[in-house]
Amino acid sequence: MLFIFFKPNFGKTLNKTLLRYKPFIKIRQHNYYMTDNEQEQNFEQLFKESFDLNELPSVIQSVVDFLQPLLLPYEAAIYWYMFRHSIIKTGGNHIRVSTRGLGKPKTVIQSSSGQSEGLSYGGVQDALTGLENKKVIKKVGDTNRSGTLYQIYLPDEIELCTQRMKEVIIEELPKVDPKKEADYYNVKENRLKIFERDKYLCYKCSKQLTRFSATLDHLQPVSEGGDNSYDNLATACLHCNSTRGAKPIMDTFTGK
Ligand SMILES: [Zn+2]
Repeated sequence: MLFIFFKPNFGKTLNKTLLRYKPFIKIRQHNYYMTDNEQEQNFEQLFKESFDLNELPSVIQSVVDFLQPLLLPYEAAIYWYMFRHSIIKTGGNHIRVSTRGLGKPKTVIQSSSGQSEGLSYGGVQDALTGLENKKVIKKVGDTNRSGTLYQIYLPDEIELCTQRMKEVIIEELPKVDPKKEADYYNVKENRLKIFERDKYLCYKCSKQLTRFSATLDHLQPVSEGGDNSYDNLATACLHCNSTRGAKPIMDTFTGK
């Protein structure tokens, strides 16, 4: 049988890498030595050894930033409940919960239906299934009288979150548009680029100009917030430039 496990990085550093679990594939032979429950206890122990409470603020931050926006309200409430009763309470990532227990009044959250204080059986089940489908929690043991054993994952271990983290990193990179940043009016080399772009033709009367007779005109006047960017400048003859005054280009075209 093929099982995919998450292997914690060992080591007692405060480094963030403690929370990064690298998946590896393990072929499980007939397991004479460990029952499933024993194996889960083993994983729980590994998590406890590698999880550092100093990481808690950054874990909570990543839940709010990257996980919670992907959850429905009851899913989020149940996740936080499980988080509080596993990671925070025991330092482990396993918790046994029952659908009825989570639905009890004054336990997880108020029902939004307004019909009762607790959550309906179906409401809790939908939330647990939703969390499982999003691979935020995983059923890891049989159900007994006190509930079902789940493993709870942290954002770093949840694919949906790591995808979102990558997107945010890309979104946060400063977007520098060199054509916007540069001054094409005052820098001589840049002025020539505009003339060349416009083929030394006056944008208004189409007169052929030379680098000595061409001037630059602001399409949106500086007095109205126009800048010296590539897109706000056009080649103009001296006549058209001086008669147009500070009017924007569309005013000139429409003869205002
Ligand atoms: Zn002209």
